[in-house]
Amino acid sequence: MPTKQIKVFVVDVQNKVLLPTTPRRARKLLNTKRAQVLQVMPFTIKLNRIVNNPIGSFTYGIDDGAKYIGIAIINEYTKEVVFQGEIRLRQDVSKKLLQRAQYRRTRRTRNLRYRTRRFSNRKQMTPFPSIRQRKDSIIRLLKDMMKRINIVKVIVEEGIFDTSSMAAGRKLYGKEFQQSEYEGKNWRAKVLWRDKYQCQHCDSTNDLRAHHIRWRKDGGTYRVSNGITLCEKCHIALHKGLWQLNIKPKFFQYPMWLMQGKKYLREQLKILGMEVEVVYGWMTAFWRKQIGLDKSHSNDAISMVCKTYSPKINSLNWFIMPRRTKVWENNPSKTCTEKNGFRHFDIVKSKHRTRGIVIGSIRSLRARAITLRTSFADRFTVSYKKTKLIQRPNGLVYLMG
Ligand SMILES: [Zn+2]
Ligand SMILES: [Zn+2]
Repeated sequence: MPTKQIKVFVVDVQNKVLLPTTPRRARKLLNTKRAQVLQVMPFTIKLNRIVNNPIGSFTYGIDDGAKYIGIAIINEYTKEVVFQGEIRLRQDVSKKLLQRAQYRRTRRTRNLRYRTRRFSNRKQMTPFPSIRQRKDSIIRLLKDMMKRINIVKVIVEEGIFDTSSMAAGRKLYGKEFQQSEYEGKNWRAKVLWRDKYQCQHCDSTNDLRAHHIRWRKDGGTYRVSNGITLCEKCHIALHKGLWQLNIKPKFFQYPMWLMQGKKYLREQLKILGMEVEVVYGWMTAFWRKQIGLDKSHSNDAISMVCKTYSPKINSLNWFIMPRRTKVWENNPSKTCTEKNGFRHFDIVKSKHRTRGIVIGSIRSLRARAITLRTSFADRFTVSYKKTKLIQRPNGLVYLMG
C-alpha cells in the first residue's frame, strides 16, 4: 500500500480557501516565514499574502447513522480524499430534554394548590431537538471545513431506500443503475426493512431474500405489499412447493420523524448554497463493495462520492465531537473553571508511562489528574505535569484516529 500523503489545508491572508498542499511544501512555507500555523487540528496554514491560485472544488459525502456520521471530503477531479472521519454524536440529548421537562413541571406545580396545573404548553419543535442536533452537527462540521476548503457539492444518504415514487428515482439514477435494477434493489431494501430483517416464516436473520408473493412471471409488481422477507432455506422450499405461503405482509409505514430530519438537512444545505445529491443506503453498500473498501462509516461516505473508482486516500481518519453549545451564564455551579491552565475539551498532548505520547481532549479536570477522551478510549487518565496544551477548540473537537 502506498504511503499516505496527508494534506495540509491552506488559506491566504484574507482567509480565502486554497487548494490543500503537501506537508513538505507547508514546512517550506513555514520555515521561510511565508506562512503561519492557523490551526493544529486539522493542520491548516495561513499564507502571509493574497494569492490567486486555483482553489479546486470538493465534494462532501455524508453517511448518516444513529451514533456515528461518516464524513469524506473528496476532490473528484484528482480522485483524492483530503479529509475523512466520523462524527461521534451526543447520545444524551433526548434524556436531557426529558429531565428538563420534569424539572419545569415540578417547578411550576410546586406551591400551586389552587391553580390548575399547566404543562405541555410548549410548541413542538420540528424536527425534534434530538434529531435536529444530529443534522446540526453535520452542518457545523461542513461550515468549519468550508473555512479551509472549497466545498461546492454535498452527497447525502437519506436513509436506506427511496420512499418517493419510482419515477423520480429512475430519472436520477438512470446513469448508474438500469431502471429495473434500481426498482428491484430499492424494493428489496424496503421489504427487508419493513420485516425488520427477519425471515417471516422461521425468524432466521441470515441469508435473507425478498420474495414476490405474486411471482414476477405472473405479473407481480414491485410494490412493497407484494414482497415478503424469507431466509434462503425457506425461500427455496417455498419455490419447490414444500410449504404454502399464508402470511400477510405487514403494513409499510415510514416514520414521520425520519422524514422531518431529512427535510431539515436539505433546507440547511440549500441555505449554504450547496449542490445536493441524494443517495440511499443500499446504493452506498453496493458502491463500497464495488470499490473494495471495508465497512466503516467514513468508507461509506467515500463510496457514495466515488461510486465506481477507488480514490487515493490522503487523510487520517478523524474523530469529531460536537460540543454542547449551551452557555451557562446565570448558573454559577455550571461555569467551567480553568485548572492549571486547562479547560474542558482542550486538546492536549501527554506523555503516559506505558502508552507513550497520547493526544486527547479533556474530559474532566480532577484534583490530581486529568481524564481524556482519545481515539482509543473514552476515559484515559494522565498527569498534569506531563500534559501540554495543543489547541483550545471552539465548537468542534477534532481527534486523530
Ligand atoms: Zn426462514
Ligand atoms: Zn421467490
